[in-house]
Amino acid sequence: MARHRSKGPLVDVITKVDLDRKKAVAVVVAAGALAGAGFAQAATAVTPVDRLIAPVAATKNLAAAMTAEKQAPQGPQTIHDVNTGSEARKLLQAEQIQAQFHVAEALKSAEGAFAQRQEAAKAEAARIAADTARIAAEEEAKRPKCVRPAQGSFTSGFGARWGTSHNGVDIANAIGTPIVAVMDGTVVEAGPASGFGLWVRVRHDDGTITVYGHMNTIDVPQGAKVKSGQQIATIGNRGQSTGPHLHFEVWVAGGQKVNPVGWLAERGVSL
Ligand SMILES: [Zn+2]
Repeated sequence: MARHRSKGPLVDVITKVDLDRKKAVAVVVAAGALAGAGFAQAATAVTPVDRLIAPVAATKNLAAAMTAEKQAPQGPQTIHDVNTGSEARKLLQAEQIQAQFHVAEALKSAEGAFAQRQEAAKAEAARIAADTARIAAEEEAKRPKCVRPAQGSFTSGFGARWGTSHNGVDIANAIGTPIVAVMDGTVVEAGPASGFGLWVRVRHDDGTITVYGHMNTIDVPQGAKVKSGQQIATIGNRGQSTGPHLHFEVWVAGGQKVNPVGWLAERGVSL
């Protein structure tokens, strides 16, 4: 170290050599980067460090001094041995780390966006389901609880008729006219019946059974759940019938047959 402090000619030369070597190192590092990037031809064209240093050392006869300087624990400049392959690897590793970071960031961003879209879709589906349920509830509330069993002419009332008891009312209309359930209920019987030709019996929630007779066709099977106003059959002329009409009866819970006119009137329906 004392050699450096002396500021003698030897030190000046060594400093000059060091500066040359520093430039050479920079050139070689640059060459290594080029080689790493695929410019192998460019790398081989660059003059190696030793060939730059050698003429200086030879003309000044300082080969020994160079050796001494190399062995010194610390020189005026710190010189690293340069391995172009190693430098290229370092650069490549740095590039790979950067690339991996960007890919990871992009993936994270994409996953986040996907999760957001899924949440939005779920919320939209829930909103639509809620709307659908609300509309259905509103429609249900508006639906009449009780309706006429068929359109047509009221041709015969409940009670004594022709020396016998007429247990229902008759509504005349063309064959094929729809017959509907007067209230929600369950079809408890659908098929042939004495005097009726065909009949359908529907039991409602309060236990009342409504009876529909003489129909041309039956449109619901036994056991079916039906809504008020739902078509269950069509008007016909089967059984003991003097013309196409619906014979309609109401059997209240316990089996008593009541006048359908009054029963329907209590539920807001007039025949
Ligand atoms: Zn009748």
